[in-house]
Amino acid sequence: MNGKTHVALGLAAAAALGYDPLQLPVAATLALAAGALLPDLDHRYGAKPLRKPLPPVLRQLAQVPAYLFRHRGPLHSLLVFPPLLLAAQALGYLPAPYGVLAALGCASHLLADALTPAGVPLLWPLVRRRVGLPLVRTGGRIERALAPLLLAGWMWVGRR
Ligand SMILES: [Zn+2]
Repeated sequence: MNGKTHVALGLAAAAALGYDPLQLPVAATLALAAGALLPDLDHRYGAKPLRKPLPPVLRQLAQVPAYLFRHRGPLHSLLVFPPLLLAAQALGYLPAPYGVLAALGCASHLLADALTPAGVPLLWPLVRRRVGLPLVRTGGRIERALAPLLLAGWMWVGRR
């Protein structure tokens, strides 16, 4: 799925779990969105909104995961980024609730990618086999309709 869909899904997941979308501080929403984009650092052209604001040297360094890991490989496991983000918050490297929100955005990314035929290794390194359902094709009609619907739902939840 593309970045916009992942961010929309992350926002919807936060709303579903009771984080009032219109009450979240902007920085918390950005942490959620960043978490929702994080796994695609393993793709040369993925996670662009995370890479673009970086100075050129750091932008080049942010390309390293794309060379080290194949797309939808280890960085698309529930056992990699989400626990790291939760640990970062628990150890005080990320203020609460930013670590939880980033982990939630990341988890929603991984579960969404598991709805595509290519799937993801959700439990890597314990289980290396990819989990995937042929429900949504990346860039297909369903995905293109999903992001605006989710954003509308997110805003609606915030107005209640
Ligand atoms: Zn992905």
